[in-house]
Amino acid sequence: MLDKPVSRPNDLSAYWMPFTANRQFKRAPRMITGADGMHYVTDDGRQVLDGIAGLWCVNAGHNRPKIVEAIQTQAATLDYAPSFQMAHPRAFELATRLADLSPDGLDHVFFTNSGSESVETALKMALAYHRAKGDGGRFRLIGRERGYHGVNFGGISVGGIVANRKMFGTLLTGVDHMRHTHDLSRNAFARGEPEHGIELADDLLRIAQLHDPSTIAAVIVEPVAGSAGVLLPPKGYLKRLREICDEHGILLIFDEVITGYGRLGTNFGADYFGVKPDLMTTAKGLTNGTVPMGAVFAANHIHDAFMSGPDHMIEFFHGYTYSAHPLACAAALGTLDTYAEEGLLSRGAEMADYWADAIHSLKGLPHVIDTRNLGLIGAVELEPIAGAPTKRAFSAFLDAYHNHDLLIRTTGDIIAFSPPLIIEKEHVDQIVDRMTKVLTALD
Ligand code: PLP
Repeated sequence: MLDKPVSRPNDLSAYWMPFTANRQFKRAPRMITGADGMHYVTDDGRQVLDGIAGLWCVNAGHNRPKIVEAIQTQAATLDYAPSFQMAHPRAFELATRLADLSPDGLDHVFFTNSGSESVETALKMALAYHRAKGDGGRFRLIGRERGYHGVNFGGISVGGIVANRKMFGTLLTGVDHMRHTHDLSRNAFARGEPEHGIELADDLLRIAQLHDPSTIAAVIVEPVAGSAGVLLPPKGYLKRLREICDEHGILLIFDEVITGYGRLGTNFGADYFGVKPDLMTTAKGLTNGTVPMGAVFAANHIHDAFMSGPDHMIEFFHGYTYSAHPLACAAALGTLDTYAEEGLLSRGAEMADYWADAIHSLKGLPHVIDTRNLGLIGAVELEPIAGAPTKRAFSAFLDAYHNHDLLIRTTGDIIAFSPPLIIEKEHVDQIVDRMTKVLTALD
């Protein structure tokens, strides 16, 4: 029993941090206490330029008044509403707004609380869809090496990041993986989509033929793989996947948790690449990172296949206590208003050339073996230190944060950039200037 409140602000032991080297971090913590616009504020009062939009999510920048107000008002009006057999109006309003934003024909929205949950939802929808159509023999799921689809069991099963899989024993069965598309021997320093590698899409065909195409339920890919280090699809690759899916009755799932909501200068990656998936998973930029929320977009033929039984029956036995949470819906509506008023969903297209020049200007600095870009995403790949992979990029991250007031993100020996879409040219110049200093000083 607690008889008096305990306050131990300097005790860091209780919080087991996610995806963090806890012991190392707690020896020298990096604490953020505030944020506004393009910057974080640290506990020692520094303004740190946010080069990664939090974790690829704060697309409209920090502390946006419309979003803050929407959340505050909602909290004081309706704090929670059950989402099973009950609803509140803002959930419908948001779903309609999202359906208007999504590619034509993806007009149905299922709410979750994260990217990981969106992925689980989409995988389950895909499997259940085939059953609803009497085609339950389609049970296999295809992912891709180096794919990141969150951390739940379905997501790590179709995902292809070894470290995220190897601790957890048997994953989903009936899963296979295509090769990833990252090939520096042919595409190093490519500007935008790489020229070479469309043939890698035929891995889907090869795997389908191996198992018999009539057993494959769905294939899931990120249009641009972000968390694995910004791996870009070769020209024509995603279109070719779509063709193979169409030929063999396989559903195509785009995991747009990063590419959704303006990251590539279009509403979704599907719009950028001109390829329509059957299911699309999103989260992050949906609420500008303010309140956890994800949304799965389902093509009309998927949705309609579920709507066929007796109408008193629940059509999809799936959902979360916090699906369409009122605060998340309010945050998302405030976010969509902000995107619309400031033209942020197309701003990545306006900035793309300046951004591309900036990222590629880092070519030639010590240890840089690749620079790449698309929309407002960028990456610098470093030559790993022999026997100490990840060390060089992590040193760059620490130096950037502590000595140059710049937040970047690293995966392995890849440095990723994905700034808020409100970025101005002067911020781009600051990123280049600070990164030049960081990279020049790297051992
Ligand atoms: N899918 C993709 C493509 C992602 O990039 C991420 C997160 O970075 C996820 C899924 C998981 O999202 P969350 O961390 O919100 O569960």
